[in-house]
Amino acid sequence: MSSDSPSTTVRKAERGAYDPDTVNAIIDEAPVCQVGFLDDGWPVVIPTLHVRVDDHIYLHGSHATRMIRTLKKGVRTCVTVSILDGLVLARSALHHSVNYRSAVVFGESKHVGDLETRRRVLDALVDKIAPERRSTLRPMTEDEVRKTAVVSIPIEHASAKIRSGSTDDDPADTTLPAWGGVIPVSLVYGAPEPDEFVDPSATEPEHLGFFLP
Ligand SMILES: Cc1cc2nc3c(=O)[nH]c(=O)nc-3n(C[C@H](O)[C@H](O)[C@H](O)COP(=O)(O)OP(=O)(O)OC[C@H]3O[C@@H](n4cnc5c(N)ncnc54)[C@H](O)[C@@H]3O)c2cc1C
Repeated sequence: MSSDSPSTTVRKAERGAYDPDTVNAIIDEAPVCQVGFLDDGWPVVIPTLHVRVDDHIYLHGSHATRMIRTLKKGVRTCVTVSILDGLVLARSALHHSVNYRSAVVFGESKHVGDLETRRRVLDALVDKIAPERRSTLRPMTEDEVRKTAVVSIPIEHASAKIRSGSTDDDPADTTLPAWGGVIPVSLVYGAPEPDEFVDPSATEPEHLGFFLP
C-alpha cells in the first residue's frame, strides 16, 4: 500500500496484537468476514466467506457480484473478522462488556487469474468450512473453476484486538447484590441432516465428526 497506509494501532494497547500468528489464528477461526470497499463514493461492507492461505485472505464468488467486480480491479479493501467469546455482565451498566477476538486487515485486492491457484484456494475454502471434506469430493471441473472468481487481499497492514477475562467493576460496586460474571459464547453446530440421496444404512463419513459436540 502507498505511503498513506491506514493506522493499525489499537487504542487500548493491552488488547492489541500484531504478530502474524495471533492475527492469522483469528482469521482462520472466524467462519465469516466482512469486506469493506468504496463503490461510487459509498462505503460498502459485505459479509462473505473467506480462507487464509499463507499471508493472503482469499474471497470467492460469481464474477457478476459487485464485491468481486470491484475487487478484481485492485482496490483498497478492509477485511474484518470477529469471534464473540463471552458476555461480560458487570454490576454497573457502564462496565458491561464482551469477550472477543477480532482482526482488521487493510490491503489492495487482486484478481487471482491463474486457474491452478484458484483451484487450490477453492479446495482450501471447502476444507476451512468443513475440515477434511475436500478429499471426499470429485475434483472441480475446469469450467467450474473458471466460473468461480477468486480475489486476494494481502495480510499486510493488520491488527488483532482481544478482550478476555472477567468483570472489571468499580470496587465500590462489588458489594452490590447484582450478579457479576461471564456468560461464555461459542459456535455450536447441529447434528448433520442427511438429504434424500444419502443411503440411510451407510456409516456417517468420518469428517462429519468435526461438527459433533
Ligand atoms: C454468511 C454469508 C456468507 C456469504 N458468502 C459469500 C461468498 O463466499 N461469496 C459471495 O459472493 N457471496 C457471499 N455471500 C453473499 C454476499 O453477502 C452478497 O449478498 C453478495 O456478494 C451480493 O452480491 P450482489 O452483487 O448480488 O449484490 P450487491 O450489488 O453487492 O448488493 C446490492 C444491495 O443488496 C443488499 N445486499 C447485498 N448483500 C446483502 C446481504 N448479504 N445482506 C443484506 N443485504 C445485502 C445491499 O443493500 C446491497 O447494497 C454471503 C453472505 C453471507 C451472509
